[in-house]
Amino acid sequence: MTDMTTFSTSASEPVPSGAIPAVKATQVHKAFGSLHVLKGVDLTVMPGTVTVILGPSGSGKSTFLRLINQLETLTGGEIEVDGELIGYKRTGRTDADGREIWQTLDDKAIAAQRSKLGMVFQRFNLFPHMTAIENVMEAPVHVKHMNKAEARELAVAELQRVGLGERLDYYPSELSGGQQQRVAIARALAMKPEIMLFDEPTSALDPELVGEVLNVMLSLAKEGMTMIVVTHEIGFAREVADQVVFMDGGVVVEHGGPDIIDHPSEPRFKDFLQHVL
Ligand code: ADP
Ligand code: MG
Repeated sequence: MTDMTTFSTSASEPVPSGAIPAVKATQVHKAFGSLHVLKGVDLTVMPGTVTVILGPSGSGKSTFLRLINQLETLTGGEIEVDGELIGYKRTGRTDADGREIWQTLDDKAIAAQRSKLGMVFQRFNLFPHMTAIENVMEAPVHVKHMNKAEARELAVAELQRVGLGERLDYYPSELSGGQQQRVAIARALAMKPEIMLFDEPTSALDPELVGEVLNVMLSLAKEGMTMIVVTHEIGFAREVADQVVFMDGGVVVEHGGPDIIDHPSEPRFKDFLQHVL
């Protein structure tokens, strides 16, 4: 008997045959009113890999991450996380025009899908009146209903993981921007996501604080975390990315291995690199 799922069509594909993508976006469109922001984005992210998305401001990078995390809803196309369509349930039935009918998922099902993803933003968004450890414990206690002792233990471990084991009881205002961003990463990790989304996590930081945050992200990547990272840190992309995607004007203009950074083929990507390097 032939098992078609283990058949790989491409010899150059460095991906275990039959593996389910962590994220698979197909012809994703997003419009805000008459503003057509994403115009057919395709992206496949395999488990345990790091994808870096580059692109000028306004190209739709944040919108794309927000769609994956269901902070926005799609205008067209589809996104699968872990092989599961997000936001909708396939019914297997078709309408009069032969299109498959999708049912909107309920809030509980959407929350379950969203819990697979952790997100880190440019602005750290920590609760200012809570200490580092309280910030990290918040969601495990209030969303996952974990008991406090257990959540505390988990929060200590996650803060140690980002190098802040000595800063558990500091308030955000007592921490540097880099430390605050590391707390934000620990807070996302405490929810045990399968995939981490980073939206320009170092863009708001003073230059001398960027490295400590990138180092935490590097160690996460080495642990095998699946990551999608929007960043202008070309060095990080070169060193850590398995896949580099250049977006402009709501489409993927070029994608490939990290080598495309040094050998871009599309003029728009070349031009972009000349401005950021
Ligand atoms: P990037 O992250 O690449 O800078 P964004 O995804 O933030 O790009 O934005 C792409 C475009 O979509 C921009 O023109 C932005 O103004 C617009 N946009 C983003 N979010 C909204 C929104 N909620 N309502 C209206 N327009 C939006
Ligand atoms: Mg953005």
